[in-house]
Amino acid sequence: MNPHHTADFLAANANVDTVKSLVDELKTMRPAYTSILDLFGPIFLAQERARESVTARPGKVTEARLESFQHQERFLVDKTAFTIDMVSAKLLFGEICAIAVKSDAREMRSQTVLMRTIMAPDFDPGPLFQAVINDDEDFFRTTALAYQTSPQTLHLPAYNSIKPSITSGASMLKRYLPEDLSWQKPGCPVCGSLPVLSFLDAAGNRILICGFCWSEWKVPRIWCPFCLETDSRKLHYQSGDSEKEYRIDVCDQCRFYLKTIDTRRLDRPFYAPLEALVTAHLDLHMKNYHAA
Ligand SMILES: [Zn+2]
Ligand SMILES: [Zn+2]
Repeated sequence: MNPHHTADFLAANANVDTVKSLVDELKTMRPAYTSILDLFGPIFLAQERARESVTARPGKVTEARLESFQHQERFLVDKTAFTIDMVSAKLLFGEICAIAVKSDAREMRSQTVLMRTIMAPDFDPGPLFQAVINDDEDFFRTTALAYQTSPQTLHLPAYNSIKPSITSGASMLKRYLPEDLSWQKPGCPVCGSLPVLSFLDAAGNRILICGFCWSEWKVPRIWCPFCLETDSRKLHYQSGDSEKEYRIDVCDQCRFYLKTIDTRRLDRPFYAPLEALVTAHLDLHMKNYHAA
């Protein structure tokens, strides 16, 4: 664990019991999210269980790559360096499809037949997993056409099944990241993907979380992670009165925004995948801006 973490600080990974009680707490606090929590709560639990036994070792980082990373010229590895624990991912894929079949979430209501089809033993999800790693949008488009669904619907069980392999690989790569790393390039220092969320830790440090490998990295407080703007007149944040733990960092230069959790104002453990989910209402106010 990083030194900025306090005892009840979970960020991207957590134990199953904590996730379970957090899901229940959030359902009570925000009933509008009940159906989406009924879908993703069990998915997160299945992922945390899978993570306990997953074996996925990322490829070796070459000397040359490590050197350009240390000079902040390039992030550490390409996404294709992540390996997938196929046994674990295929089991999880079946579990996630079964959860989706029972789901009442808007996204899943019309997808029951699809989920039943792709969870059948004669469907091989391997190529879908590889397409996530390869960012192969064409593959998702053509497969979605063949199954009369959307690429996003197929991406959901595919990405979520390999996520334990990816986050476990990312945690093995953490040893290459210096303790005092202040990464000042756009995207994740490990895999180059854009941040999904940021948070302020107990000491007020600003930490970004990767939307692909869920690595965390510290960045300057007055700095845009998308266009690297540092002019404080162009960077500001919006916060509501009712949810004191949330704010939205906005850049007037590139018009991107990022949701931020102030963990000093959070009275529950911080589990980033759940917070990303139950802050969807904040995105509705940001229609004139871009999300990562
Ligand atoms: Zn990453
Ligand atoms: Zn910007």
